[in-house]
Amino acid sequence: MNVYDSARMGDVLRPLGYAPVDAPDQADMIILNTCHIRDRAAEKVFSELGRLRLIKEARKEAGHGTIIAVAGCVAQAEGEEILARAPYVDIVLGPQTYHRLPEMVARAARAGGRIIETEFPAEQKFDFLPESEAPQTPGNLTAFLTIQEGCDKFCSFCVVPYTRGAESSRPVASVLAEARRMVASGVREISLLGQNVNAYHGEGPDGGIWGLARLAYALAEIPGLARIRYTTSHPRDMDEALIAAHRDLPQLMPFLHLPVQSGSDQILRAMNRGHTADEYRDLVRRLREARPDLALSSDFIVGHPGESDADFEATMALVRDTGFALAYSFKYSPRPGTPAAGAGMQVPEDVKDSRLQALQQLLRQQQDAFNQTMVGQSVPVLFTGTGRKPGQIAGRSPWLQPVHVQGDPALIGQEIMVRITERLSNSLGGIVEEEKEYA
Ligand code: SAH
Ligand code: SF4
Repeated sequence: MNVYDSARMGDVLRPLGYAPVDAPDQADMIILNTCHIRDRAAEKVFSELGRLRLIKEARKEAGHGTIIAVAGCVAQAEGEEILARAPYVDIVLGPQTYHRLPEMVARAARAGGRIIETEFPAEQKFDFLPESEAPQTPGNLTAFLTIQEGCDKFCSFCVVPYTRGAESSRPVASVLAEARRMVASGVREISLLGQNVNAYHGEGPDGGIWGLARLAYALAEIPGLARIRYTTSHPRDMDEALIAAHRDLPQLMPFLHLPVQSGSDQILRAMNRGHTADEYRDLVRRLREARPDLALSSDFIVGHPGESDADFEATMALVRDTGFALAYSFKYSPRPGTPAAGAGMQVPEDVKDSRLQALQQLLRQQQDAFNQTMVGQSVPVLFTGTGRKPGQIAGRSPWLQPVHVQGDPALIGQEIMVRITERLSNSLGGIVEEEKEYA
């Protein structure tokens, strides 16, 4: 989402004459768009700011001014501290105020004062942003599109409800218009984004409220849009309509990121996740019934306060039962102001370390096994660019696996059937089966 937000900040600043430069030392303004989800992400901000300070000083000696802004969730959560610790920062702005950037820049330039805007404004930033200058990725073939933001679920460990604010959805018409613009500019794959993307409930053109499933059916009607993905989903919001959309819509990719965090009912309850491990298993079963080639990815936290050896074993059991194609796993990181951070029974660091290692080993085995099943199969690959070696072109399978072949660069931008011939550590190699768009 920060990638998407950064692009939109670019859209907001373009009318003021700002355009991208190749390196920070050429920039009149540098915006650090930050993440607060775990401690490590937040720490990086201060070390990065130290580097930007040197750039600002060097530019000043050469007679150039530099505005330094910190945006995103670290700005939201630690704005005052940033201003105190980094006096060379001019602007601090939260994720819901960046539509006001032009005004902040003008004020910073005029008054030379320092500006902090981290409230949650009554107005919706999407109503004030200029039309996006799609898209953000090289080759303009895949793009992110934020449809929903914020969260009201208040999981015990998570800062998102405090930094991104309350859950809200963009209206259907605005999402469809942005998607059409993207496709008109050459985009073939759109990833719909939201902290709880499947909690989407946008106002429809008919005045009714549309869920994510209905939005997906409407997007699938845009000619030329070959692939639709969405992330991140919450198991609690995975309704029957969305499961049916996976059965009905070939454009909806058979790859779902569905974080479970833990396989222990006791920890899931402590986390306030709102479902049990068996409910997750059952949901996965229903999804696979609807779309047999569906692969899953997930997020896991080890060492949430109160997690015992038996709780961790329950997570390992859930992983073994489910089988994940990909997964992200983290040591629990106490976030200031969240309920779990103040809870008793914090798990010692060395226990977190060994649990993480065991979990990651199992997840890695599953990922390798899943990728291995591709060898010998024919799969559609959306080619998005050239590969690393001469003569190679590269793209992704429906399951997000990077795939490279020896092939004609004219195939870039098309979805082509490829026979997979080898599995490398994090990608697949294959040969083009037929030089024509797969339909
Ligand atoms: N909305 C998504 C998750 C968004 S945060 C959901 O509900 O699943 C992305 C991931 O970061 C989470 O799934 C979780 O695994 C991890 N995460 C969030 N807070 C964390 C914390 N305090 N410590 C460790 N990992 C955390
Ligand atoms: Fe955070 Fe996701 Fe829980 Fe919301 S649902 S509080 S974003 S982990």
